[in-house]
Amino acid sequence: MEKKAVFEQVSDMEEQIGQLYQQLGDIKKHLSEILEENHRLSHENHHLRQRLDQSVGSENETKENQADGDGEIGEGYDNLARLYEEGFHICNVHFGSPRENEDCLFCLLFLNKPKQ
Ligand SMILES: [Zn+2]
Repeated sequence: MEKKAVFEQVSDMEEQIGQLYQQLGDIKKHLSEILEENHRLSHENHHLRQRLDQSVGSENETKENQADGDGEIGEGYDNLARLYEEGFHICNVHFGSPRENEDCLFCLLFLNKPKQ
């Protein structure tokens, strides 16, 4: 009778180990997904920062040009407008985050500014 109890205990442990092993596999999978997403977001962030630097750079140039009487809307504005069209926020509230196909009032206000 005692032998049977020990055997059952060992069987239970075996089952628990199997479950833990499966959980470990799930966690590993989840972790690799998170790392992948992290990598993707770093890339996107880097890309957006470059765009922002370009935009700010050419916007400053445009301001200088405008001081010379050149009334054109700048390349920086075009870049930001394009970024907005591509589905990202360009407002300082949510800058760089995806718009998820919704118009953003802050972005639209920002886009309208140079036209006035
Ligand atoms: Zn926005």
